[in-house]
Amino acid sequence: MADFACSGHKAIIIMSVVSSAPDKKEQIFRGIGVSPGVVRGRIVVLDHDQNEEPPRRHIPESELPAELDRLQSALANTRREISDIQNQVEKNLGSSESAIFDAHLLVLEDSTLIHEVKRFTQTENVNVDYAFHTVAEKYAQALGSVEDEYLRERAADIRDVTNRVLSHLCEHNLQDLSHLTEPYILIGHDLTPSQTASLDRELAQGFATDVGGKTSHTAIMAGSLGIPAVVGLKDASENLDTDDYVLLDGFNGVLVVNPSDQTLFEYGQLEKEQEDLQVKLAEIKNAPAITLDGREITLSANVEQISDTAAVLDCGAQGIGLFRTEYLFLDRQALPNEEEQYVSYHRVAKALAPEPVIFRTLDIGADKISHAIGETDEANPFLGWRAIRFCLARKDIFRTQLRALLRASSAGNVKLMYPMISGVEELDEANELLEECKRELREENIPYDKDLEVGIMIEIPSAVLTANALGARAKFFSIGTNDLIQYTLAVDRLNEKVADLYDPTHPALLSLLQMTIDAGKRHNIWTGVCGEMAGDVAAVPLLVGMGVDELSVAPTMLPQIKYLIRKLKYTETQKLAQQALECESSVDVLVQTRAMVQRAAPGVFHTVL
Ligand code: PEP
Ligand code: MG
Repeated sequence: MADFACSGHKAIIIMSVVSSAPDKKEQIFRGIGVSPGVVRGRIVVLDHDQNEEPPRRHIPESELPAELDRLQSALANTRREISDIQNQVEKNLGSSESAIFDAHLLVLEDSTLIHEVKRFTQTENVNVDYAFHTVAEKYAQALGSVEDEYLRERAADIRDVTNRVLSHLCEHNLQDLSHLTEPYILIGHDLTPSQTASLDRELAQGFATDVGGKTSHTAIMAGSLGIPAVVGLKDASENLDTDDYVLLDGFNGVLVVNPSDQTLFEYGQLEKEQEDLQVKLAEIKNAPAITLDGREITLSANVEQISDTAAVLDCGAQGIGLFRTEYLFLDRQALPNEEEQYVSYHRVAKALAPEPVIFRTLDIGADKISHAIGETDEANPFLGWRAIRFCLARKDIFRTQLRALLRASSAGNVKLMYPMISGVEELDEANELLEECKRELREENIPYDKDLEVGIMIEIPSAVLTANALGARAKFFSIGTNDLIQYTLAVDRLNEKVADLYDPTHPALLSLLQMTIDAGKRHNIWTGVCGEMAGDVAAVPLLVGMGVDELSVAPTMLPQIKYLIRKLKYTETQKLAQQALECESSVDVLVQTRAMVQRAAPGVFHTVL
C-alpha cells in the first residue's frame, strides 16, 4: 500500500549533480518501492553470479591468519552442510544414494588440495575464496580431460564442493566496490539483508534489485538505513549497464533510465512538496501521537543495528518497539558470547532510558542466515527452522542470549518478546528457560530486573486463534504483520511474483488483527503492531480504529505517522474499521482508508509517473 506514501525522512530527494544524457531514450522499469526517497545518478550493476569467479584481492601479511581462519570455518560449515544433506538423503532414499556425498566429503578432506589453497593464499597474498577457486579449478580441469569416466565425474564433485565452499566464503561479501569514490546507485539481481547493512551509506545513494518483496529483510534494512530502494524489478539488472544514468523513485517503485526533462520536472515538484511537509513534521517532533479527539497511541521505533539508536532518539520515538537482535549474529564467523551481547543490549537500553526498549529474542533463519550458526538446506525456510523453533532446539544459544538480556534488564527499561510463537507450549518452554536463567543469575549474584515484562509476537494465525490462552501468559502482544500476512494468505514475503497477492487489507487479515486486539483487551494487556503495516500511512487509520495501543515503525517513517495520527479523529477511524471488518473486498477497504488519509492529511500521499 505504501507505494503511494511519502516518507518523513529528511533526505527525501537527493538530486545528484551528474547530468542526464539527453540524447538517450527514457525507459521505465516498475517494481515495488520499499524505502522512500528519490535519487538520480550513475549506476553500478553487480555481477549476476558473484560466486562463479571471486575477484582477486590483495591481502596484507598481517591479515593472512584471519584469512586462513575464514577458510577453516568455511570448510567446517560446508562439511556440516554436506553431512546434513547426506543424513537427509540416507533417511529418504537409502544409503547407496547417500554414499554419493562421501566423494564430496573426501574433496573437503583432501589435504593436498587444502594445503595448496593455503600455500597459494600465503605466497600470492590473495583472498582465500580466489585461491580456493583457482586451485580447485586447476584440479577439476585436469580431471575433466582424462579418459577414465569415473575420474571425469570427480571433476564435477570438485566443482560442486567448490561452489559450496565459496558460498560460505562469499555470500556476505559484496562484490568489491572499494575502488569506487563517487556516489552510485547499486543495481543487482539480489542483495542479502547483511549485504544491505554493510553498504557504504555515503556512496550508495540507493539500490534496486530484480527480486524481493515489500517485507523482505533487505527491504526493511534499506528503510532503516534511509536509502531509497526498489525491489521486484524482475529482469532489470540484465538490461542495465554500469554507468547508465537513472532516476530511482523509492516511493512509487520506479526506476527510470535516462529520465526525460518532463520526468525531471515532475520530480522537481515532488521535491518542493516534500520540503513543505518536512517543515510541518519538524514542528511536531516532540508532540504526542494523539488524535484530534484525544486517543493517544504510543509510537515506537524498529531497530536492526545498535548504530540506529541515534536515529531513534532523533525521530521523536517513545522507545524501541522492536529491536531485531539477530542482526548481531549475521555476517560473522563466530557467535557473539554472553558478554558481547550484554554490552550491546545494555548500551542500547542505557541510551534510550527511561524510554522502553523491547528486545526481540533471536529470529534467525529464513532470509536471515548466520555463517556462525551454519546453513540449513531447507525447502521452505520460512516454514522451517526459524526464530523460537531454532532457539528451543539450540538452547545453548538461546540461554546465552537470555542471560545477556536479563543482565541488560538491570538498566530498568528493558522488555523482551519471543518471535514466531505458534501456541502455548512454545511460550511455556521459553519462559521455563528464562526462569532457569534468572535462577542462575540470582545464585551468581548478578542483578536483573525482577519485573521484566515478557510479551510475544503475534505473527502466525495459530497464535491469533489461541490468543486467549497466550494473553493469560504474556504482558503484551506485538503483531508482526509481515509474517502474519504471509502465513495467512500463503504468500511468500520475498517473492516478487506473488507480490500483488500480499494484501494487508485482505478481510481475513483484518479479522485476525481485530481478534488479537480484542483478546489483548480481555486480558488487560496492550497490543501493538511492529510489522511494516504500522508504518504504512494507508493502514494507520484502520489500525487506530481497531484499537491498537502502540505502533512501532522505522525511524524514517515515524514523523509522518505521528503527523497523520494527529490529524485523525478516533471516532471516525472506529467507524472506518467497523465498516472494513464487514467489507468483503480489500480494494474497497483500501479506497475508504486512503480517502480518509487524503482528507485528513493531504501531502502524505504522492504519485509521480
Ligand atoms: C513481522 O513479521 O512483522 C516482524 C516484525 O518481524 P520480521 O519482519 O523480522 O519477521
Ligand atoms: Mg516476523
